[in-house]
Formats: sequence, C-alpha cells, structure tokens
Amino acid sequence: MEKLLSVVVSVYNEEKALEEFYRETTGVLDTTSWDYELIFVNDGSTDGSLKVLAHLAESDFRAKIVSFSRNFGHEAAMIAGLDYSRGDAIICMDADLQHPPECIPGILKLFEEGYEVINMVRTRNKTAGLIKNITSSGFYWLINHISDVHFEANASDFFAVSRPVAQVLKNNYREKVRFLRGYVQNVGFKKTTMEYEARARVAGESKYSMKKLFVFSLNTILCFSNMPLKLGIYAGIFSALLGLAVMAYTLLTRRGAPSGYATIVVLICFMFAMMFVLIGIIGEYIAILFSELKDRPVYIVERTENIDR
Ligand code: UDP
Ligand code: MG
Repeated sequence: MEKLLSVVVSVYNEEKALEEFYRETTGVLDTTSWDYELIFVNDGSTDGSLKVLAHLAESDFRAKIVSFSRNFGHEAAMIAGLDYSRGDAIICMDADLQHPPECIPGILKLFEEGYEVINMVRTRNKTAGLIKNITSSGFYWLINHISDVHFEANASDFFAVSRPVAQVLKNNYREKVRFLRGYVQNVGFKKTTMEYEARARVAGESKYSMKKLFVFSLNTILCFSNMPLKLGIYAGIFSALLGLAVMAYTLLTRRGAPSGYATIVVLICFMFAMMFVLIGIIGEYIAILFSELKDRPVYIVERTENIDR
C-alpha cells in the first residue's frame, strides 16, 4: 500500500500566496510515490484566505481545512495540524513558499531510509534583515548555554516527523507556553538535518514582528531553563560580599556618618534594583504556572473541510 504523507500548512492572512503554494506543492507531490493530504490550518485569517482554501478543498479532497475561531498563533496551528494529520510522515511548512516544496522528495527519501525526525536548516537567510539575524544568533547562543537541551541555530518551523514522533508530540507535549521546534529537536528518535535555501516570501508580509519574537524568545528561555531562577542566589551572594566589604571599609577607616551618606544611597538603590529584577523573574515563572493551571485550549476549531472523523 502507498504510504501517506501529511503536509501541515499554517495560514494566517495568506490569500495571495495560497494558490501558488497549492500549485507548486501538489506539482512536486504528484511526482512522488507517496499518497498525500494537505492540511491547511487557518489561524483566524482576517483576509480572504479561508475562501481561497474552501475553493481548493472543493476541487481536491486531499486539501483539508482546519479553521480556528480566531488567531491562536503559528505554534497552535502546527499543533492542530499534527493532531488532525493521519500520515505515516508529517511535514510542517509555511504557506508563503519560503520553505521550498522541491525539498519534499529529499525528505521522503530520508524517511524511506528510516529517519524519524528531519530538521530543515536554513543555509543562509537573505530574506530576514541583519538585526533579525544578529538577535537570532544571540538568542541561540544564550539558550544553548543556559539550557540542558540543545537547540539547532538556523532551525526553522520547517521539519518533518514520523507518525510515532507525531504521536509523542501530540500526547506528551501539550504545554500552553511552548516552542514546538525545541521539542522536535529533543524528542530523540533517529534524526538528521537537511539544508535548504530559504526563498523570498511569495506574497504578503511577515507576521512576526520584533516584539512577537522577543516575547517568544523570553518564553522559550523560561520554559527550557531554570537558570534565571538561580540568579537570585548569585545576586544574594554578591550583595552579601558587597555588604561585608562596605562594613570592613567603614570599620577600618572609621568615617563619620555624614560622609557615608553616598554609600547608603548607592547601596539602597542597588539592592532595590536587584530585588525588583528577581521579583520580575519569579513573576514570569508564576505567569507560566498560572497559564498551565488554567489549562485553556491551545486552539478552538470552528469548522473543518474534507476531514473525516
Ligand atoms: N502564521 C500563523 N499564525 C500567526 C502568524 C503566522 O499561522 O499568527 C503562519 C504564516 O501564515 C506563515 C507562517 O506562519 O505560513 C510563518 O509566518 P511568517 O512567514 O509571517 O514568518 P517569517 O517567515 O517571516 O518568520
Ligand atoms: Mg515566512
């Protein structure tokens, strides 16, 4: 029997890119020996994306739609895609053709060789600006130094997993604050990387602003590392030593109270600054605990098309 490939595509306001994506991707998929389904997860698009998708689904039963009731974010869309996929292999990719469909036959070949996790790594990113590239390398350097799991720099949301891995992601990684790419790289199984050259966006514009990326990076650090929690201990030791030094200085020089005024003010400011930072860090962790505790849905599906179950 032919093997089934599920292609999961997250869609947020991509009306101009979708038809070309569909045409190119199916063009490549038809040349392979695999059967396929395209799962378009409409992440609460406010443009005509859903209409374009509905049109595709009408003429091709392999084009399936899972449509969210509002925007839940790219990560939630990928998770929904994994949940609804039924393939022996699953590829997640963007709708803007930055992840070239020509790579698919190569990915399928790796599956046939027995690989279960295939991380697609950008060779170079001409499309993102210099600032985005620098902050991204900085982020990967930091997270790899303070976390015990390894993150591949330049990894993208372009990856492929086997059915067993998808099942693990589906059943065991339901955290609300999450970084799917991080889990994919750290579930184990027989894995490999494959290089690809990112293309320019076919239409529309990037939905990831610097602010979104910052929040995302911060959450990733908090989710994958307990190092920030330990900062309090280091800061405490440091301030204790500083306090001792000031005490020794005062005792040895026997300076009068008025002359120590500056020291006191500086110390108080410094200590308060430290306290606020630490309280802030604890607050961030509590925020994560709180959102896990609330156990809100990762996504809400409003309508589906061609999905039978
Ligand atoms: N996307 C999504 N929900 C969002 C933002 C983006 O599903 O809230 C989709 C988007 O349609 C695209 C992919 O995620 O298919 C990557 O987004 P984008 O191309 O804007 O990011 P970039 O490639 O610039 O990092
Ligand atoms: Mg893109």
